[in-house]
Amino acid sequence: MKGSVRLYKWEASSFVNGPGERFVIWFQGCPFSCPGCFNRDARTFDGGDLVPLQDLWEKILASGVRGVTLSGGEPFLQAKEAALLLRECGSRGIDRVVYTGFLYEELKRDIFPGTRELLRASDLLLEGRYRKEIPPDGEWTGSGNQRVLALSARGMEMKSSRRTEWVEREYIISEDGETVLTGI
Ligand code: SF4
Repeated sequence: MKGSVRLYKWEASSFVNGPGERFVIWFQGCPFSCPGCFNRDARTFDGGDLVPLQDLWEKILASGVRGVTLSGGEPFLQAKEAALLLRECGSRGIDRVVYTGFLYEELKRDIFPGTRELLRASDLLLEGRYRKEIPPDGEWTGSGNQRVLALSARGMEMKSSRRTEWVEREYIISEDGETVLTGI
């Protein structure tokens, strides 16, 4: 797979960023400034690492998980490359969740190169800016204004499993003892 993406980080196994166990990829760079943003370090455009798509794809396969989540930062700013990766995931039966600060209506205007392709390659879209004053009404979203939109039959199944009582955050301890806090 050709191309690279600028990433904040990734985790091979997470349980709070969509249904079930998932490989989670946080993109680097976000045009929004939501007060209370959980991933402030992922917002700058000059941070993170440039990662070849092929390397990322091999890490996903090696993890053995059956679900991938794109988060951020803002995945739609690198929509073309993200769509390539998710298409490959779909061809191997790996389900696909995408977080975005944009509204679905904004994305439908095809605002960035590859936007349409990324929407087509996604099963579940979790969209909208984070608003800390509106409590979430179910798992996977950070605030109650954010919508969970099924973009495929698989996405509809995933959405129907959404719970209203859930775990919001998790600590992941790596082999070298580093602790990472993730959540929405
Ligand atoms: S859209 Fe997400 S990453 Fe961007 S500022 Fe808002 S909460 Fe943070």
